[in-house]
Amino acid sequence: MTNLASLLTDTADRHPERTAIVIGDMRLTYAQLNQYSDFLAAALAARGVGPGDKVALTCPNLPYFTIAYYAILKAGGTVVPLNVLLKGREVAYHLADSDAKVHLCFEGTDDLPMGREGLAGFEATDGCEHFVVITADLNAASPFEGHPTLMQVIGEGMSAPVPAVEVADDDTAVILYTSGTTGQPKGAELTHANMRSNALTSDRLFGADADNPDTYLCVLPLFHSFGQTVIQNSAVAFGGTIVMLPRFEAEAALQLMAKEQITFFAGVPTMYWGLLGVLDDSGVDVQALAERLRVAVSGGAALPVEVHREFERRFGVTILEGYGLSETSPVASFSKFGEPARVGSIGPVIPDVEMKLISPQPGEWSEVAAGEVGEIAIKGPNVMKGYYKRPEATAEAIKDGWFRTGDLARVDDDGWYYIVDRTKDLIIRGGYNVYPREIEEVLLTHPDVSLAAVIGVPHDTHGEEIKAVVIKNPGSALTEDELVAWGKEQMAAYKYPRIVEFRDSLPMTATGKILKREL
Ligand code: AMP
Repeated sequence: MTNLASLLTDTADRHPERTAIVIGDMRLTYAQLNQYSDFLAAALAARGVGPGDKVALTCPNLPYFTIAYYAILKAGGTVVPLNVLLKGREVAYHLADSDAKVHLCFEGTDDLPMGREGLAGFEATDGCEHFVVITADLNAASPFEGHPTLMQVIGEGMSAPVPAVEVADDDTAVILYTSGTTGQPKGAELTHANMRSNALTSDRLFGADADNPDTYLCVLPLFHSFGQTVIQNSAVAFGGTIVMLPRFEAEAALQLMAKEQITFFAGVPTMYWGLLGVLDDSGVDVQALAERLRVAVSGGAALPVEVHREFERRFGVTILEGYGLSETSPVASFSKFGEPARVGSIGPVIPDVEMKLISPQPGEWSEVAAGEVGEIAIKGPNVMKGYYKRPEATAEAIKDGWFRTGDLARVDDDGWYYIVDRTKDLIIRGGYNVYPREIEEVLLTHPDVSLAAVIGVPHDTHGEEIKAVVIKNPGSALTEDELVAWGKEQMAAYKYPRIVEFRDSLPMTATGKILKREL
């Protein structure tokens, strides 16, 4: 019977004067964060939001996200965080699919063009009753007639009673739409107990300590599970300070790390790559940064071996690689804190959770033989209740409490897992299974290659042919044919890419996954 919002109320009771959020020159204490979210909870309740109601939240990394998140929970509602870059049609799909009653949405400015199509999406949805606009400037009037600003609504709540609601542990706290690299987005229903358990493991995962709180750089989008749990909810649970940057930009992130004395960094691989790229020209004192940085976490996608080694060398910190999914709150495995990294591994399963490798055949749930590659299955307090309103998809994904992930891995004798690939990413060329990740790792060892994505393309005789889409280092004279020839020397005949295409950029999700589908 513990609301996820108690992470905030408990910390605000114990450490009211501590800084909870830093954004630009503004600082918000835990007492202030808690009070704003109380006001908003009261106002939402006055507008009819109560237990079981869904409230959609489209907001970049700004304090309003965190205020609104805990306010919705305090009112007994379910938070439905949406990707800030959705188009109007997609917003309408998410609002309708989640049965959202209210949409709290950032206005979208020239500097932060996020949430721009939120109103169009709201207007195209029948069931959603209220649209509240989050303005960048606290005191601004509403840019949309008939729709109040968040600050107006918070103002209404100042004289209203804070709702006294009870939630059950398995009531849904958050619905997270999964990243969309896999067909139609589905809402993973995560309970208060799911989300709490994952945030509260942070002491055992990376030594989070309320008596020695960390200062977290918050560049991962908060609408996604990784930033939400590993940064926001962990920081709030252990009284840390969240330094927000609404949009990741490597140079700005480095400057902020120096200015705010960051001790905790979590990012997706492209962020690590970005930071390394600007390190030498940034003018920041890398030595000082490195001395303060206590924890670095990577997750969301495979961290290229070269990037891993180079970051560790420059920052003198062991990168902890974590693995998980929206459906698992998200963290399911994590490198061991205080032990050397095993580069390429996602670590052993986290405390209180179980992990095993099963047959990747749909509908097959038997464990594979020791030493074999299998599909990761996860059981534990972090596993979602199911996909919202999709009993069939839920039944395909969860059996006897075990959730199947679609990720292929092997495990070593000490229980450390190594992702080989995703089931659907497997390329089968002439009957041979080819794991793109492996080929990408090899390509990244070429001195002129800065990023690579390997995909299968249709082929008359082989079924599929292997193609690499590559970003070269600036100024490189490498040709496509030369890279094919080099690959041939490095890899078995069935593996090396026969086709190479150079590009200036690769399509990415907001959380750093290459959208291979779009290649
Ligand atoms: P999402 O639900 O958006 O968090 O995406 C989850 C997917 O991200 C997983 O199924 C994996 O395919 C991938 N993923 C997450 N963490 C890692 C990691 N450390 N290494 C490789 N893939 C990862």
